[in-house]
Amino acid sequence: MTESTSPILLWFRRDLRLSDHPALNAAVATGRPVIPIFLHDEGIETLGAAARLRIGFAVGELARALEALGSRLILRRGPALQSLTALVSETQAGTVWWSRLHDPMSQRRDEAVSHGLRAAGIETRAWPGHLLFEPEKVATGTGGSFKVYGAFFKSIVNRDPGLPLPAPDRLMAPASWPRSDRLEDWRLSAALRGGAPIVAAWQRPGERRAHERLECFLAEKIGSYPESREYPSLDGTSGLSENLTYGEISVRTCWRAGLAALERGEAGADRFLRELAWREFSHHLLFHAPGLAMDPWRPEWRSFPWTDDAEAPLVQAWKKGRTGVRLVDAAMREMYVTGRMHNRARMIVASFLTKHMMVHWRVGLTWFEECLTDWDPASNAVNWQWVAGSGPDAAPFFRIFNPVAQAKTYDAEGRYAQRWIAEGQSDAPATALSFFEAVPRSWGLSSRDPYPAPVLDLALARERALEAFRARSRRVEAVGGDA
Ligand SMILES: Cc1cc2nc3c(=O)[nH]c(=O)nc-3n(C[C@H](O)[C@H](O)[C@H](O)COP(=O)(O)OP(=O)(O)OC[C@H]3O[C@@H](n4cnc5c(N)ncnc54)[C@H](O)[C@@H]3O)c2cc1C
Repeated sequence: MTESTSPILLWFRRDLRLSDHPALNAAVATGRPVIPIFLHDEGIETLGAAARLRIGFAVGELARALEALGSRLILRRGPALQSLTALVSETQAGTVWWSRLHDPMSQRRDEAVSHGLRAAGIETRAWPGHLLFEPEKVATGTGGSFKVYGAFFKSIVNRDPGLPLPAPDRLMAPASWPRSDRLEDWRLSAALRGGAPIVAAWQRPGERRAHERLECFLAEKIGSYPESREYPSLDGTSGLSENLTYGEISVRTCWRAGLAALERGEAGADRFLRELAWREFSHHLLFHAPGLAMDPWRPEWRSFPWTDDAEAPLVQAWKKGRTGVRLVDAAMREMYVTGRMHNRARMIVASFLTKHMMVHWRVGLTWFEECLTDWDPASNAVNWQWVAGSGPDAAPFFRIFNPVAQAKTYDAEGRYAQRWIAEGQSDAPATALSFFEAVPRSWGLSSRDPYPAPVLDLALARERALEAFRARSRRVEAVGGDA
C-alpha cells in the first residue's frame, strides 16, 4: 500500500469530539481511510479515580458517534508507543495523527511516541485543537511568555482563533478493521468502587450534551452569570469544565459563542470569555514552566513551613468533609459525590487547607486530582498555586478567606450547606445522604453521627499562618530574594 492510500491512525486523547477537530478534519480531507484509536495507556494509568470513570463515559460517547458515521473507535491497552506500533503493523497505516496536549506528562509521552514511530518510517503530526492558540504563538512584546493574567487576556481577546470546523458526515473505513478491546473490560470505574454509580449519575458526558449545555448557558444563564457564578448553591455557571477537559466541545466553539454573545450585548459575555481565558492562561503557564505542576513557581516558597503529611488528622478531616466548618465540609462532600466543586468553594477549601491548616497545596492538588471529574493538569495546578500565593500572578498569601464570613455572604440562607451536610437534619436531602453511600466503609462515617466541632480555631489558625508568612518575608529580605 502506498502512503497516499494507506490508512491514517487518528489517536484520540482529550479531544473526544467530532466537530471542530482539526486533525480529524484534515484526515478526512485526504480521502484516505481513517482508523480512530483510543488507548488505555500511561496517560490513563496515572489518572485519578473520578477522572478515569469520567473519561470512560467520554470514550463510550465518542465510539457511538463514530459508529453513526459508519466508523469505529478501536481500543487498545498498553504503553502508547507499543500499541500504536502494533496497530501500524496490523493496518499498514503510514500516518499517525493526534491533537497536541501541552502538559508535561503528555509532552514526554508524545515525544517518545513521535520519535519511535518516525524511526520506523511513520509520519506523525500533532495538530492544534486543545487550546485557542498554541502556547508558543502567544508572546509578550519582548518575545517571552506571559506571567500576568491581565496582560495575557489583553493579548488574546482581539486575536482571531479561526472559525470552528464542522463535523465530518462520513469517515472512510479501512478495508478491514483491526481488533478492538471492549470498553467494559477496562473497568474504568473500578477505582471508585461502591461510589461509582453515585458519581456517575452526576456526569453529563458527550459532545451532544456539551453543546446543549453551552446553548442552555447562553439562553438562560449568561445574563446573570457575573453575579450568580459567585453562589455555590446556584446553578449559575456553564458547567462546561467536565466537557472541556475531555475535549467533548472545543474551547474555540465556546469562545466564539462568547464573542457572539458579547456582540449581542449580553451582560455576562465578557466575564465568560475571561474565565475561558483563565483556562488558556493556565495551559500557557504550565507549558512554559512545567515544574509548577508540583513545585512552587516562586522559589522563595519552597522553604515555607507547610506540612506535606497527607495522612495528618487535619488533612483527613479536610478530605472527609469533617472539619466542622460547614462551607468547607459541604464543598468537600460535593466534590466526593459529584466529581465537581463550585469555583468559589474550591477557592475557600484551598485557602483553608494551605493557610488555616498550613498544609502544602500539593496535598490538596493531589486530592482534587483523585476526586475531580473535570480534573485538568493545568487549571488544577495553577489555581492551587494561585490560592496558596506561590504561583504567577497569585492572590497574596495574606489574603485568607474566612470560611464563616464567606458563608454569610455567599450561602447566607445555608442552602449549599444543607444540600451537602446531613448531620443534624431530620429530613436530610438525598444529596447530603448520598455522601455516606459514596465514601469507603473504612472511613466509618454515618449520617446519624453528630456533626463535628471545628477542628481548629479560625482566628488562631489565621494568626499562625500570617506569622509564618511574615517570618518568610523577613527571611526573603535577609537573603535578598531566595529563602
Ligand atoms: C483550587 C482550584 C482547583 C481547580 N481545579 C480545576 C481543574 O482541575 N479543572 C478545571 O477545569 N478547573 C479547575 N478549577 C477552575 C474552576 O473552579 C472550574 O473550571 C469551574 O468551577 C468550572 O465550572 P464551570 O464549567 O461551570 O465554569 P464557568 O464559570 O462556566 O467557566 C467557563 C469555563 O472557563 C474555565 N474556567 C473557569 N474558571 C477557571 C479558573 N479559575 N481556572 C481555569 N479555568 C477556568 C473552565 O474551563 C470553565 O468550564 C480550579 C479552581 C480552583 C480554585
